[in-house]
Amino acid sequence: MRKPIVFGNWKMNLDRAGSLGLVKGLKAALAGDSSVDAGVCPPFVYLDAVARELAGSAIALGAQDVYFESKGAFTGEVSAEMLLDVGCAYAIIGHSERRHVMGETDELINRKALAALKAGLKVILCVGELLAERDAGRTESVVERQLVQGLRQVAAESLAALVIAYEPVWAIGTGRNATAQQAGEVHAFIRGKIKELYGSAAAQALRIQYGGSVKPENTYELMSVPDVDGALVGGASLKVEIFAEIVKEAGRAAGRGV
Ligand code: PEP
Repeated sequence: MRKPIVFGNWKMNLDRAGSLGLVKGLKAALAGDSSVDAGVCPPFVYLDAVARELAGSAIALGAQDVYFESKGAFTGEVSAEMLLDVGCAYAIIGHSERRHVMGETDELINRKALAALKAGLKVILCVGELLAERDAGRTESVVERQLVQGLRQVAAESLAALVIAYEPVWAIGTGRNATAQQAGEVHAFIRGKIKELYGSAAAQALRIQYGGSVKPENTYELMSVPDVDGALVGGASLKVEIFAEIVKEAGRAAGRGV
């Protein structure tokens, strides 16, 4: 049984006080609940302060992105080593906003994933199709390309440090989540692809999050699908009670929650 993993992606939201208030609240709301691996991904500038606030808590810290070089003349970028230095355990790589707003390519995403894993960060690799791609029947080919190219040269030994987030772009921030059936189909496809690439033990152990308009009301149904092992949550991760409820619903769906 895979332990559910639920992370909040704050994107470019909250200020310093809001960030610290949110994690203080989450620490209290989730204390003693070990049924789910929960984590938060604040903006870079608040990572250090949030890490201090999280010290001693089971809530993990993640960054929303990472660069592939470890140091040097790369103005504006942040390396995996720097993220580890401030207490990050995870980095999100290839989020749809990085792909479609900032224009990141599969090749760049792959370089980031390789560098992050080599440095010792865990990676949440995001994949997902645009609405036009789904409508054209291209969901599987898009997700396959993002997986195969994103994981190029990633060694089998690194798979334990990898989480895949399936985030259909049309469901992110729109209020329109994928149905449990739609999510289940793509998650099963992803697991099958990982099996082809890395074998069945790695595929069975891999945790695959769903992301896209997750909220307390749809978490249980989505997380009850066999191949859905957690959630990457945007908007609904910005309020203590709402995010804590999502974490608890994910634990309940896994049959071990409070
Ligand atoms: C996300 O930011 O990855 C996301 C899924 O956002 P939302 O939950 O707001 O759709």
